Amino acid sequence: MPELPEVETLVQELRPQVTGRRIDDVILHWPGCVATPSPRAFIRRMKGRIIREVRRRGKFLWFVLDHGAWLVHLKMTGRLFLLPMSEPDPHARADFVMDDGRILRFQDLRKFGRLYWVPDPEPFFRPLGPEPLDPRFRPEDLARQLAGRRGRLKALLLNQSVMAGIGNIYADEALWRAGLHPMRSAASLNGEEIRRLWKGIREALLAGLRHHGTTIQWYRRPEGSSGAHQRYLRVYGRAGRPCFRCGTPIVRQVLQGRSAYFCPVCQR
Ligand SMILES: [Zn+2]
Repeated sequence: MPELPEVETLVQELRPQVTGRRIDDVILHWPGCVATPSPRAFIRRMKGRIIREVRRRGKFLWFVLDHGAWLVHLKMTGRLFLLPMSEPDPHARADFVMDDGRILRFQDLRKFGRLYWVPDPEPFFRPLGPEPLDPRFRPEDLARQLAGRRGRLKALLLNQSVMAGIGNIYADEALWRAGLHPMRSAASLNGEEIRRLWKGIREALLAGLRHHGTTIQWYRRPEGSSGAHQRYLRVYGRAGRPCFRCGTPIVRQVLQGRSAYFCPVCQR
């Protein structure tokens, strides 16, 4: 599933291309991709809108419109492509025809991704925790978000109300960088460990962003190319290979129903 660095890459690459453009037409190839309002109302709301800004909140792409907001959640296999012209694609779910003739296409093989039009995105985003790359997000804020939470670190990092934007890959990468075991409880962390976790989260996400995201299988950039961060992962997908810090073979274990890659020696 695309996580914060992948969605942020899409946002940064789409921003200069579509900001200021008008959406002249909306073609729903599979109306089930619209979560709200009804597909017919979605088309009516979206047609003729001008894209004022392209932003991100958690794993949502957020197109600020001249009236309301268009949100996209890619879920497992969703992709957004900017095409010079329409071309046949059996997995195209929705096409947005821009006033310069280009097509912003939502493609989704497994059909879990969703599109939303909302008059005001604030209530929609209210359940989400803070943005870990927000410069105002400090170690004290992470401590506050974790305080009183039951559960293990891996599950807490995946919980979008603790922090928005992290999924399986960057949770494992952050915990490896912090030297913390995925099954540690939040309550057992001391101040120094919280600080390490805060730093690990930010460094893992920034590294992913620097390489335009991680392509394990599905994720693509708007013009169709892959991200490059899969070549730089420290722990995710490295089962059996030596830990970059201590040489111990990395293990993959299913913990509370979630797979986790970690070093059994230097993550404590
Ligand atoms: Zn190690």
